[in-house]
Formats: sequence, C-alpha cells, structure tokens
Amino acid sequence: MDNYKGRTVLISGATRGIGKAISRRFLGAGAQVVGVYAGNAEAAQIFVNENQQFAHQIELLQCNVADEQQVAALFAKIDEKYQSLDVLVNNAGIRRDAMLAMMSQCQWQDVLDTNLTGTFLMAKQAVLLMMKHKYGRIINITSPVARLGFPGQANYAASKAGQIALTKTLAKEVARKKITVNCVSPGFISTDFITDLDQELVAEYKKMVPMRRFGTPDEVADAVLFLASERAAYISGTVLEVSGGL
Ligand code: NDP
Repeated sequence: MDNYKGRTVLISGATRGIGKAISRRFLGAGAQVVGVYAGNAEAAQIFVNENQQFAHQIELLQCNVADEQQVAALFAKIDEKYQSLDVLVNNAGIRRDAMLAMMSQCQWQDVLDTNLTGTFLMAKQAVLLMMKHKYGRIINITSPVARLGFPGQANYAASKAGQIALTKTLAKEVARKKITVNCVSPGFISTDFITDLDQELVAEYKKMVPMRRFGTPDEVADAVLFLASERAAYISGTVLEVSGGL
C-alpha cells in the first residue's frame, strides 16, 4: 500500500458515501485528511466515532464548496496549518432530478453550483497552493451520465460533463508543475445518493450494468488512491471508469 505519511489530503463530501470510503483509505495510508462536509453534523460525528484510531490525522470542516468566500477561508486555514496540499479529491455532489421541461432554474443552478462551480473553486485554490511546491494530485468525481445522458438528469449530466472538460483543460495548464488532474467516474454505487430510488428501479438499473450489480464505495476509493499515487505520475487529463462496464 502507498504511504501518505506527511501528506495532506483534502476531500470534499468526506463524511458520507464514496467520500467516506476515500477518507478511510487515505487515513489508513497515514495521510493527514482534511474532510469537508456541507452541513450534516450527525454524519460528521458518526465519521469521527468510527475513525477514533485516526483522530490525530483528521480535521473536519464545514464548508459549502459552491461559496467562493467559504472556499477561500478553507484554503487559508490549510495554508496556515499545513503549508501545503498534496491531494485534492472533489467528491462533493448533489442531484436534483426532474425532466428538463419540468426543471426549475433553481434545480438547474443548485446542481451546477455544487458539482461544477464547487470543483472550479476548490481546484483553483488547490493549484495555487500546489504550484508553490511543484507537486499535486487533483481527482474529480464525475459520472458516466456525463457521456451517456440520463432522463431527468440534464442538470447533473451537464455538471459532470463540465467537470471532465475542466479536468482535461486544467491537466494541460499545470502539467509542467508536476500536478496531475484526473476524473474517477463511478457507475451506480450504493450510498445515500441513490437511496431514494424505489426497488423496481434499482432492479431495472442493475440490469443495465453489464456486471449486474452496483459498486461499493471502496471500489471507487481504490481507483482514487491509485490516481493519487506515485504509480500514476504519468497519467493526467483522463477519466477512470469504475462502473461495472456501463
Ligand atoms: P452522498 O449523497 O452519499 O454524499 C455527498 C457528500 O457531499 C456529503 O458528504 C455531503 O455533505 C457533501 N456535499 C454535498 N453538497 C456539498 C456542498 N455544497 N459543499 C460541501 N459538501 C457537500 O453522495 P455519494 O457519496 O454517493 O457521491 C459522491 C460523489 O460521487 C458525487 O459527486 C456524486 O455525483 C458522485 N457519483 C455518485 C454515484 C452513486 O451512484 N452514488 C454515481 C456516480 C457519481 P453532508 O454530509 O454535510 O450533506
């Protein structure tokens, strides 16, 4: 396993679902994890309770990734306390599904703000810090919906496709600073994100997956840890699918 002792890793949406699995992997590998959550204090407390053996490696901060001032304040804290940032995982994401003809501008904007503007604001601050040390890994969590489309998810699909375009562009901008920028694209993963789906839909979606099952947060975390590692030093601007063949 890779050793992240002395490395600082910032993960958004760190206390639930996929982000929680990513956080645990980095903690197990010795990293100092700065975990961001939006406002679910109960989930944050559960995360702390479950990871007491890593207490000295965890700092949890509430921050809305779509808010420029809150993100600037978050990075000021990181700069002051750790002076560097090795890995950023832009994992925070929401969905507000509706058929486009019925979609409100608010549903559209909320999803674009969190998923895409949030990725932009966090990545911008991260590269400013990473460029000083000429090292960094940025991993953005996108979705196969970005290339496939999905009824009811025009907002979500657009935000996730935007993340991929941002990733490919930023990868080229910072390549000479030894910063890599990549996406991980999970398929259906069993988390709170999809608990609102009724059982009939779940069965239907499972049939769409060539492997006939949903993935686990740990399977996504494995891909993130790989892209964050030294073994992935020559990989940038790419999308790694973890989707059971979708
Ligand atoms: P969850 O709903 O389980 O968790 C989402 C996390 O994001 C929570 O920790 C939440 O914080 C945080 N968050 C949401 N909005 C903000 C915000 N504005 N600022 C900061 N944090 C925020 O989602 P998943 O773990 O399932 O999804 C994680 C990522 O993976 C998302 O980007 C999603 O689009 C993507 N994805 C998920 C798939 C799936 O099937 N689950 C499939 C493909 C992609 P809090 O706990 O405080 O609410």
